[in-house]
Parts: sequence; C-alpha cells; structure tokens
Amino acid sequence: MSVWIVALAALITAVATGIGAVPFFFVREMPRRWLGLSNALAAGLMLGASISLIREGIAFNLVRTLVGAAVGVVLIIAARAALGEREELAVGRLEGADALEALMIVGIMTVHSFAEGVGVGVSYGGGGDLGNLITAAIAIHNIPEGLAISLVLVPRGVPAWRAGLWSIVSSLPQPIMAIPAFLFVTLFEPLLPAGLGFAAGAMIYMVATELVPEARKDATDLTVAGVTLVAAVAMIIFEAVL
Ligand SMILES: [Zn+2]
Repeated sequence: MSVWIVALAALITAVATGIGAVPFFFVREMPRRWLGLSNALAAGLMLGASISLIREGIAFNLVRTLVGAAVGVVLIIAARAALGEREELAVGRLEGADALEALMIVGIMTVHSFAEGVGVGVSYGGGGDLGNLITAAIAIHNIPEGLAISLVLVPRGVPAWRAGLWSIVSSLPQPIMAIPAFLFVTLFEPLLPAGLGFAAGAMIYMVATELVPEARKDATDLTVAGVTLVAAVAMIIFEAVL
C-alpha cells in the first residue's frame, strides 16, 4: 500500500464534503428536516465504519484496540476543550452572531475530520480492502456534513461555491492526518490495533455527542434512531459483502 494511495483517498473524502453544497446552487434554503436526516445518516455511516475498525483491531489485539479507543475519546475531549478557547479569540475578528455560528460549525467539523483522517490512514495500515471501505464510508458521510455546513452558511448570504469551499476546508485535516497516521501504524506495526481502536473510539464518541444530538434538533427521535440504525447496518452488510 503506497502512501500516495492513502493521500489520494483522504483527498477524495475531503472533496466529497464539497458535494454537500451542490443543492445550494439551485435553492437558497432547505427544510430543516433535511439537516436532521443528513446528520442521522452521517451518524449511522460513521458508527458502521467504527464497528468495522474495532473488529479489525480486535483481530490483531483486543487490549491494544480498547486502549486505543479510550485514548481516542480522551483526545477528542481535550481537542474540543482547546478549540473552545481558541474559537473565542478567532471570533473577535468576525462580526455578528451569524459569523459566530458559521465559525462554530466549521471549527467543530474540523476537529471531527481530524479523527476521520486518522481513520483513513490507520485503516490502510490494516490493508487495502479495509482502507477502501473506511474511505468510502467517510466520503459518503462527508456529503451530509457539507450539506449541514452549507445549510448554515448559504441562508446568511454566503455564495454556494464558497460554502462548498468551506466544506472542503473543514475536511482538509483528513488528507493532512491520514498520511502520518498511515506511516505511523506501518512503521510501528504492533500499534496498528491501537490506531484502529483510536479512530473508532474518537468517531463513536463524536457520533454520540455531536451527530446524534444535532440530528435530534431537526428530526423526531424515531426518525433519527431509524435512519442511524439502517445506515449503520447497511455499512456492516456492505463490509460483509466485500
Ligand atoms: Zn464526520
């Protein structure tokens, strides 16, 4: 597995985020319900992908996978705490509450895609098939995330193409993180299960604390539960078929 394939895969997942802005070339506003459904779909795909990562990790080493998952959760909590402080500083340079909300969503998405970049990188460390599967899951899941970003930006007067660009920017940590993560787990192979666990732990934590609560704001609990479950199961079946 070459590092270039990993770089390309992670770049594809980043660009996929921009696809979420495409509907806004045709409409300026969208029913909020779509945002709820999008977030639920993204949550389900991420959950399914995380389960695949954990299964792969456990096949190598159970304890290291679990330790990695715990470290992943702790690191996301720490990153969020750090971002919370920095956000207030950055917001000073922008005007108005709308800018604040826009920046919040881009900022949160960026921490989030950091973990997803690690997910792409470490999954290629586990082999090409696992890498392709996780890349596909993250790329597809990024589309509703780009939609969520555009849904905030476009009604505030940001042109669709710029909303698309912001969406891609929010996912740029993916190619940036994927390469070192891949090199790390291939150079220090005993740490591969820890890396797989790390990405899965971080992503499951984000599903629980970010994507699902976001989805519940704009869709009924039953819809959120149904869409998340179906997407996660579809992802697991997709893996079994491959
Ligand atoms: Zn995501």
